Amino acid sequence: MIRKAKGFYETFDRKEPGTRATHYCPGCGHGIIHKLIGEAMAELGIQDRTVFVSPVGCAAFCFHYFDCGNVAGPHGRASAVATGITRSLPGKVVISYQGDGDLGAIGFNNAFQAANRGEHFACFFVNNSIYAMTGGQMAPTTMLGQKTTTTPFGRDPVKEGYPLKVCEILNQLEAPVFIERVSVSDTKRIMQARKAVRKALEIQRDGRGYAFVEFLSPCPTNWRMDAVASAQFVNEKMEKVFPLGNFRDRSAEPAPVAKAIPRLTVEELLDRGHEGGPAQVDHEFRERRFKFSGFGGQGVLSLGLVVAEAAGASGRFVSWLPSYGPEQRGGYASCSVVVSGKEVGSPTVDSPDVLVLMSQPAAEKFAMTVPDGGVVIYESSLPEPKVRPGVRVMGFPASRIAAEAGTPKAANTALLGALTALELHGLSEGKVLLALDASFAAKPALVERNRKVYQAAFDWARNNL
Ligand code: SF4
Repeated sequence: MIRKAKGFYETFDRKEPGTRATHYCPGCGHGIIHKLIGEAMAELGIQDRTVFVSPVGCAAFCFHYFDCGNVAGPHGRASAVATGITRSLPGKVVISYQGDGDLGAIGFNNAFQAANRGEHFACFFVNNSIYAMTGGQMAPTTMLGQKTTTTPFGRDPVKEGYPLKVCEILNQLEAPVFIERVSVSDTKRIMQARKAVRKALEIQRDGRGYAFVEFLSPCPTNWRMDAVASAQFVNEKMEKVFPLGNFRDRSAEPAPVAKAIPRLTVEELLDRGHEGGPAQVDHEFRERRFKFSGFGGQGVLSLGLVVAEAAGASGRFVSWLPSYGPEQRGGYASCSVVVSGKEVGSPTVDSPDVLVLMSQPAAEKFAMTVPDGGVVIYESSLPEPKVRPGVRVMGFPASRIAAEAGTPKAANTALLGALTALELHGLSEGKVLLALDASFAAKPALVERNRKVYQAAFDWARNNL
């Protein structure tokens, strides 16, 4: 009987409410494959615990059709998204649905590594030997001699390599439980494909591991053929290159069991034993966003880290995000710190309330990002940076103070003293000093020396700024 599979929504409201047809071209294999999946999902009784990850490609709108949990993956990343879901929600039935451009090219490493780890999801791979959604370019699975918009004279193995046989590659791995290549070009083949879909989903229902099904699927539009000729093309051309059959079925073997790991709460994971304990929501606390910037080796990242640690010890929500060039010393370095009374939405700081500058390139890069009302503290041996109207600029002789206090390399600690003296971070001096001391836990001899620099800087800032 020809009817809609039970696993589908009643209507497909992608564009018009009440639509009953998919967006696929006539003769396309996607609709058939969808029906096999929707039918199996409903009949195996797993619909309510199925999460379907749709790809980028012609099937990018899967979530308008399947009546289950749906997530749209970025291009080539459906297997990575499926991995995340299956690991965070064990017990769900997870499906990654991907085309040959999506899985075979940009996402191959994601898919390959997921298969190698034996992640617990079913990967349905649609091979129509072409990039379909973007207009028929050569895909990794394009056959030798096949004409596409980017191989108008046919794929040449010398220039473009050979068609990627994904089932054969995955069959080299230990972990996959089930691998099969099927076709949806005619009724007999569709019935075999139906069995493979069911088997892959049964393996997921029973939590047995990774299952991979490749579908040879017609794309009449990009092949520039009618539906009948496309089906023949699959049978006569594609099957020669991509032979159908089961490569592996280990579903009857006992499933390996992972070693148990201790379960920790988020608080246990995050609480590293500082006295402040987990952060507390405080809507009265004004969020402060900092950028500390300079050269690598000036201690810019450590300065931000001390502020972040002091904030954490004060029960604030905090993030610290470093950014640096490849050089160990002398390259560009900066870090963004957000101190907040509520969970930090984003750790990036594009418009800092407080900007600390320790180098000229940093001044050129960041000074104009500080908004009206913000503060810029710069090492005063540098030229005064150009800032926007309404920004307070303060030159601070961090290097000179550190040198006079006996530790020339501690200009970053001097800046910490100035920040505290000017009350720019909203944290108590006690917490700041504890964090400063803790940052030298591995070099106790430096604790007192940095305290001395800190105090000299604090006093200078109080008296002069
Ligand atoms: S372009 Fe090809 S793969 Fe895409 S919907 Fe049309 S027939 Fe199907």
